[in-house]
Amino acid sequence: MSLPPDREEDSTVGNPAALEPLVFRGIGGSSGVAIGKLMLMDTGGPGVVHRHVSRRALQGEVDRYEAAVTASVEELNQAADRAQHHIAKAEVAILEAYVLMLEDDMLHEDVERRILIDRQCAEWAVEGAIADLGAQLRDSPDPYIAARSDDFEFVGAMVQRSFQGRSTRSPAPREPSIIVARDLSPADTAALDKSVVLGFVTEIGTRTSHTAILARALELPVVVGLSNITSLLGDHDTIIVDGVSGEVILSPTIDQVANAQARAERHRKLAANLREHRDRVPQTKCGEALSIRANIELPAETEVACYEGAQGVGLYRTEFLFIDRITPPTEDEQYAVYRSVVEAMGEHPVTLRTFDIGGDKFVSQFRAPADMNPALGLRAVRLALARPELFLAQLRAMVRASAHGTLRIMIPMISGIQELREVRALFDRAIRQVSDAGHAYSETIPLGAMVEVPSAAIMADLLAQEADFLSIGTNDLVQYSLAVDRTSRALAGLASYFDPAILRLIDIVSKAGVEHACPVSVCGAMASHPLGAAVLLGFGIRDLSMEASAIPEIREAIARVTLADLERTTREALEQGTAAGSERVVSDAFREVFSDLLEAYL
Ligand code: PEP
Ligand code: MG
Repeated sequence: MSLPPDREEDSTVGNPAALEPLVFRGIGGSSGVAIGKLMLMDTGGPGVVHRHVSRRALQGEVDRYEAAVTASVEELNQAADRAQHHIAKAEVAILEAYVLMLEDDMLHEDVERRILIDRQCAEWAVEGAIADLGAQLRDSPDPYIAARSDDFEFVGAMVQRSFQGRSTRSPAPREPSIIVARDLSPADTAALDKSVVLGFVTEIGTRTSHTAILARALELPVVVGLSNITSLLGDHDTIIVDGVSGEVILSPTIDQVANAQARAERHRKLAANLREHRDRVPQTKCGEALSIRANIELPAETEVACYEGAQGVGLYRTEFLFIDRITPPTEDEQYAVYRSVVEAMGEHPVTLRTFDIGGDKFVSQFRAPADMNPALGLRAVRLALARPELFLAQLRAMVRASAHGTLRIMIPMISGIQELREVRALFDRAIRQVSDAGHAYSETIPLGAMVEVPSAAIMADLLAQEADFLSIGTNDLVQYSLAVDRTSRALAGLASYFDPAILRLIDIVSKAGVEHACPVSVCGAMASHPLGAAVLLGFGIRDLSMEASAIPEIREAIARVTLADLERTTREALEQGTAAGSERVVSDAFREVFSDLLEAYL
């Protein structure tokens, strides 16, 4: 039995009856604190039988497979119907994505090949096909894409349960409970009643997994990524879930419960308070206005973005459309999705980022050759330029969606001016194709570059003259500038956007923007932390994009500080020689004024 990471107490392992408190640390997936009765939800199934089938029985196995898929699709459609009456439309979109995965031709072909050629029984064939697809995603250096392997696992488990005639849904709790599960599927989530579910803990998943995304939409505290937790529950029946710190406590002491109750209350009050101000125009204490927009991965997240008062979408990670399936989406399919996003945001602008995908992150017939270092390989704009037919279809879909609102197109991983020129040539060609096909489109679609590769920051003065806007992606800028893998837990301490090298690069980009009248925004995680956002404003950046759930606290943080304080602090941080030094400067300046936000929300 392997223990979860950062286990703080292990004196009672193998002795759960003693009911000593056990403290674990996972990943805070959705903020808030919950204390309650623990309910283990069994979402796993028994082992899969491996059986070779006689030649005569092969067609029967194919039929059994088709029937199991049909039953699973039906189950998902019923869950989607139920979710229509729920608050979170995001659930419906995910359920629909699962139906598409189940109906995908390549999955069917692979399963049929395993049955008809390898003579595997249907269960075995499904297990193998799903495992292959999941493994390709899981190896991805991008945590978001790696998290999609969970979706494939879920779809596979659902089909396996259908083979046994079991429902794909788990029983819902009847009394207020905190659910602990290996994984919680969107179908389970759709069926949950918020009045009895206080929070979740799951073994698999990351901050960008669907469970976490949905929990944030539902405003439920969640901790994910606590491997093996379901096997460590023993007789414990009370649990604390702290979605802020990622801490989970089984059988807490009276003091721990009191402490958690106080934290839960603080978080609830602050969240309610912040929500009350969601119509307030974001501005500093001295009245300097800025834009706060949302980063989204699912079209349905526009609903949360609007609810939180986002002034548009600053980053729509469109790769989501490509990775929950095996074949790429058609131009028409993409157009329908982009149009829905643009329309959902009304008069606010939407920034569509072309697919940031490549290397081993892409499951389809467009799979790229394996790179030694996929993060440094054929990904994002490089893949787009290498596969112009795929890129042009996406650009055409985006150009067509521009007829329905205010839209900007943004290119990931631009490393220099040459790439931007090549993109612009293809963009112009896409516009001509859309025009020739007789579709409507806007004559003014800004084409921007992400600045997330150090060379792009260094060359920002040239990029600012040719791009219509620049958007700094601090997540990758940190990864590539400091040579720190962004997925590495071991190196997480080194991956700081307060590092003076990062601050200098941001300084270069924001100055280039001013000099060449090119708008500069930030859509990396730095913008979603009160101290990070403070530094960015001090650089003169007035356009921040972050996940929707962070919007209320950032709007509040900014309203508490003046531009003079922000600029002075950023200047001082820029003069430091180390990340710790810069962070200390910013923290000393604003820790007190942000104290409730930093404690209760992050
Ligand atoms: C970034 O790199 O900062 C960014 C916003 O893009 P992503 O996190 O999708 O790589
Ligand atoms: Mg990036």
